[in-house]
Amino acid sequence: MSFIEQWLHDAVPALVGSEWRKGQQSFAVDNPATGETIARVADMGADDTRDAVAAAYNAGAAWRATPVKQRSALLRRWFELINEHTDDLARLMTLEQGKPLAEAKGEVTYGASFIEFFAEEAKRMAGETLPSHGADKRLLVLREPVGVVAAITPWNFPLAMITRKCAPALAAGCTVVIKPAEATPLTALAAAYLALEAGLPAGTINVVTASKPAAVGEVLTTDPRVRKVSFTGSTPVGKHLLAQCASTVKKTAMELGGNAPFIVFDDADVDAAVDGAIASKFRNAGQTCVCTNRFLVQDGIYDAFVSKLTERVNALKVGDGLAEGSIIGPLINQAAVDKVQRHVDDAQSKGARLMCGGKLHAAGERFYTPTVLADVTTEMAVADEETFGPVAPVFRFHRDEEAIQMANDTPFGLAAYFYATDYRRIWHTMEQLEYGMVGVNEGLISTELAPFGGVKESGLGREGSHHGLDEFTELKYVCVGGL
Ligand code: NAD
Repeated sequence: MSFIEQWLHDAVPALVGSEWRKGQQSFAVDNPATGETIARVADMGADDTRDAVAAAYNAGAAWRATPVKQRSALLRRWFELINEHTDDLARLMTLEQGKPLAEAKGEVTYGASFIEFFAEEAKRMAGETLPSHGADKRLLVLREPVGVVAAITPWNFPLAMITRKCAPALAAGCTVVIKPAEATPLTALAAAYLALEAGLPAGTINVVTASKPAAVGEVLTTDPRVRKVSFTGSTPVGKHLLAQCASTVKKTAMELGGNAPFIVFDDADVDAAVDGAIASKFRNAGQTCVCTNRFLVQDGIYDAFVSKLTERVNALKVGDGLAEGSIIGPLINQAAVDKVQRHVDDAQSKGARLMCGGKLHAAGERFYTPTVLADVTTEMAVADEETFGPVAPVFRFHRDEEAIQMANDTPFGLAAYFYATDYRRIWHTMEQLEYGMVGVNEGLISTELAPFGGVKESGLGREGSHHGLDEFTELKYVCVGGL
């Protein structure tokens, strides 16, 4: 992709309206596999952010007035362009984020799927008429776009977290200002470039890149022209942004952290459970908000599960995401490596058995060897904190109620998984889990067709499915009288 190659040799600008703005300052984007700087990107501040908000605000009236079939066609073209550039986007993602190339290609397909879905769903953004309380009155409900949307996104899914917000927002007639994570701004800029190529009008999509997010965040959460803040990231930052949004009473969506349990009951198919465990835990080197953080395994199946899981984890190939056959890439930064090591050391010091891994990998200082810990207990840090790395801690339980209690004993409530065959147990467990999403005999649950989101401190709102469009619309009740 020529524009990307050119960017990588030059300072990459941010996008404000129709202007690719270089700004006064820039910051480095590093390849986590090698530590090398792959590009420098414009470092924007509060004034640039206000300009981007103004561009989005000024583009809003024309965009919401654009006939829905035209909006839909433009989104469809964006979807096609992203798919056509799968190889380039995937390579860029691997370079700045580290995930193996095959996974990055998967993310391009997944990310694009939201654009395709919402290009169609836009046509179904219907209002309603209601029964009236007076013979001379008619009651209407209009569905209108909320207005300017700020999309603040994390580094772990540099494309999909953006399309999951921008596609429904644009479909509904909103305009957006994206603030991508400082580690992965390039994929966001490439996606926005392709949106303009697809014909989306200038100002409908803006990207503000920044090495210090607080100044940008403050404008996005307090400027009255921004009507919705859609955030994906950690729970502490989400709480901070929610508080900032209160001053102008913005609509918010918060896709925050998790502490996903993966329960394996005695009657589970152990091989299927291990397959699910590998998919749910080790994708993206364990840096996925819905990835399993805790395996809760019943007595009768415990030893078989631990031994089969260890065998499979030992075989996971660690290496640079661009190298053929790599399954586990680097962690995003040194702090991530330190946290993983702290969790492993803490568990071992409190009596956990190290089955494999437990140390840095020879591939480099950001690579961690996939790890299985057995005999893990609730006193250990892995019980409460999101590890966000390739570590599978296996807890033991005896009775079903104990597993449910352990699973729910957390302030988080994003995703949970369990493996069982008895249908009563399946229904009971599914109903008892206090989570926004549950995988039953399934370790991979994300799709644009279903509502993604959490309860408790994992967040507010849903992304994907027709519910995802509702998040970007307001209801306007109209009472027509005197008839
Ligand atoms: P993070 O909270 O550190 O950062 C997320 C985004 O917020 C980044 O763009 C960052 O620059 C920005 N940010 C940070 N401080 C800000 C401020 N004061 N004002 C405005 N913006 C600010 O999270 P991260 O480390 O990038 O991502 C990992 C976290 O995201 C994990 O906790 C993970 O579980 C969560 N996550 C959740 C989902 C979900 O859908 N629920 C999806 C992916 C990741």
